[in-house]
Amino acid sequence: MSKLSGKIAVITGGNSGIGLATAKLFANEGATVVITGRRQAELDAAVAEIGGNTVGVHGDVSKLADLDKLYAEIKAKFGHLDIVFANAGIVELAPVGMVTEEHFDKVFDINVKGLLFTVQKALPLLVDGGSIILNSSIANTTGFEGFGVYSATKAAVRSFARTWTAELKARKIRVNVVSPGPIATPIFDTVGWSEQQIDEFGTTVTTQVPLGRFGQPEEIAQAVLFLASSDSSYVAGVDLYVDGGMIAV
Ligand code: NAD
Repeated sequence: MSKLSGKIAVITGGNSGIGLATAKLFANEGATVVITGRRQAELDAAVAEIGGNTVGVHGDVSKLADLDKLYAEIKAKFGHLDIVFANAGIVELAPVGMVTEEHFDKVFDINVKGLLFTVQKALPLLVDGGSIILNSSIANTTGFEGFGVYSATKAAVRSFARTWTAELKARKIRVNVVSPGPIATPIFDTVGWSEQQIDEFGTTVTTQVPLGRFGQPEEIAQAVLFLASSDSSYVAGVDLYVDGGMIAV
C-alpha cells in the first residue's frame, strides 16, 4: 500500500536536489505533487522527470505575490493540501566582518521569510491532520566559518517548528524539521567556490561524518516521507538529523 495515496503535496524548490528527489518519492508513493522553482526550463524538465500528475508552478518563495499565485492554483486544481515540504533555500557565505546588508537580506528573505510565508499562506488550504516539514540543516547547530548568516537562518527554521507545533495542535497539524548533513546536490555549485575549493570542503566535511561520505538527496527524501506520512503520527516538533551521524557522535 502506498504511503501517500491520494495526498496533495507542495514542495518548494522541487526542481533540484533534495526537493526533486522528494517529489519523485512522493509521486511513487501515490501523492500528487506540486513543485515550485524559479527557472521555468528546469521546472518543466523536473515535472516531466517526476511524471504522474505533477504540477509545476513558477515562482520565488521570497515574493509573497508568487506564493499567493501558487496557492490560488492549488486551490483551483485540488481545493486542499495535505503536505507542505518547505524546502527551497540558498547557501551564500560571508565571514563576520564581511557581511553586507545585501547578503543578510538575500539569505534571510529566501530561507526565513520565504519559508514562513510558504507555511502561513498554505494554512487555509491545509487539511486538519496535515503534515508540514521544514528543511533546516546541521548548520542550525554548528559553527562552520563563513556560514554565520546561513546558519542563523536555519536556526530560525528549527525554531519555527517548535512554535508552530504548539500553535497548530488544535488542528492536529504536525510540524517537523529535517536537517540534512552534507548532501550531494547542485547547491555547492552556487556558493561561488572553485572546483578545488569544493573538493577541499568535501574532504574536510567527510572526515567529520562518522559514515565517512556525503549523503544522497534520496536519503533525505526517505526521511521526509517518514515525517510526511502516518508512519510518524506521534512525531511532532522534532529536528531529524539525516547527516551520517555528524551531529550525534
Ligand atoms: P539545490 O540548489 O539543488 O535546491 C534548492 C532549490 O531551492 C532549487 O530548486 C532552487 O530553485 C530553489 N530555490 C532557491 N531559492 C529559491 C527562491 N527564492 N524561490 C523558489 N525556489 C528557490 O539544493 P539542495 O541541497 O537540494 O537544497 C534544498 C534545501 O536543503 C535548502 O533549503 C538547503 O539549505 C537545505 N540543505 C542542503 C544541504 C546540502 O548539503 N545539500 C544541507 C543542509 C540543508
